[in-house]
Amino acid sequence: MLSDPIAALATPPGRSALAVVRLSGRGAFEVAARVVVGFRTDRPRTATLAVFREGGEAFDRGLYTVFPAPHSYTGEDLVELSCHGGQVAPAKLLAALHAAGARPAAPGEFTRRAVLNGKLDLVQAEAVGDMIDAVAPAQARAALRQLEGGLSRRLGELREALVELQALLSYEIDFPGEDDGPVRPERIAASLEDAASRIARLLATAPSADRMRHGALLVLAGRPNVGKSSLFNALLGTSRALVTEIPGTTRDAIEGHTDFLGWPVRLADTAGLSDSGDRLERMGVEVSRRYLSAADLVLLCIEAGRECGPDEAALASERPSLVVRTKHDLVNGAVEGLAVSAVTGEGIEDLRRAVADRVFGDRIAMGDLEPGLSRDRHRTALLRAESALAEAAAHLTPGGDPVLVSHHVREATVALDELLGVVDVEEVLGKVFAGFCVGK
Ligand code: GDP
Repeated sequence: MLSDPIAALATPPGRSALAVVRLSGRGAFEVAARVVVGFRTDRPRTATLAVFREGGEAFDRGLYTVFPAPHSYTGEDLVELSCHGGQVAPAKLLAALHAAGARPAAPGEFTRRAVLNGKLDLVQAEAVGDMIDAVAPAQARAALRQLEGGLSRRLGELREALVELQALLSYEIDFPGEDDGPVRPERIAASLEDAASRIARLLATAPSADRMRHGALLVLAGRPNVGKSSLFNALLGTSRALVTEIPGTTRDAIEGHTDFLGWPVRLADTAGLSDSGDRLERMGVEVSRRYLSAADLVLLCIEAGRECGPDEAALASERPSLVVRTKHDLVNGAVEGLAVSAVTGEGIEDLRRAVADRVFGDRIAMGDLEPGLSRDRHRTALLRAESALAEAAAHLTPGGDPVLVSHHVREATVALDELLGVVDVEEVLGKVFAGFCVGK
């Protein structure tokens, strides 16, 4: 049943001061009334202190807030209950709600209902997930903007333009063969072109939006002992960084996730190459090929005061790179380029800034306001729309069939509908919510 009452913990399990449990669905208020002493629904969106009980036994005291449909997250009758945290009270509260008639929620089920009830579109629902997964401030900003409808609005406007175009085409189909028909072909061509260029603009945001969602991949490269590992540690700083060992074949790498001035980055330090036939090994530059080809930016480390060798120059010309002059503390006087010292910390902040400018420059220049296509699902849908419009344009020749033009424009509209979750909802929802956690 789609609207049966569901309940789940909305906060992470474990030791905490408070825990929040969500209860939603038709009959949610009756369920709550069996657990919350003196439960009332006449003060919506106002927290009320009450005793929670199960089978006559009071087990906690906390706050409950009632959100009558449709003015709730899910669009259904919803109650948020906050109890004491830890192992016992939240489990008791959930058990009481389940005994009172609610079933445990499936992962992402609250947000799924919000989509089905028209409270959020699918793109916004994805932003809920991104918001929760955000580790850098810029990621949270982007997610919030997407949740508030930045991308949805763009897509909605585009969809509207396509629907209008279809309307024009139906007019053309209904009144065929008139030389000076009601709709001038140039007008249709111009609308098609306009929609195609909007799609192209959105598609152009994909690489930086992807960098934003996953963190830009920065790969440290350079000869052995130039100070890559030391720089890796200095750039990550201390507590904020999450360092994970990435097992490879013979060449393990470690990745650290952090942010540079609020922009998300993944920093990779790769072990030296072992297979001597490798071209990079011949170049004498230590870096794993797999990381190198995926890098958004290679931090090419060369000791301060040493000339850039042909191996390093070759690498710099091959991949987007930033030359970093390491161990500056060992050299007297000024050094050309970005000089740093992992020992004194000199230049580290400048390096972070330079990297953020380089990798997120386009977003920084836009004031970080443009919505971006952050997922493959977005990109695939817009590429489909793009090729459908190209097909449509191909039939827009003198003597061309407006029915075919309309058919392809309709295809583009369907791609956008799927993206926003207007059609084929069940199938698409299944994919989108697969990665969600319970209570979201
Ligand atoms: P990697 O092989 O490129 O990863 O280099 P390491 O980070 O392991 O550093 C090699 C050696 O250089 C170690 O002995 C480090 O202590 C030293 N080193 C690294 N960075 C600096 C620096 O900024 N200043 C000085 N004086 N020594 C450094």
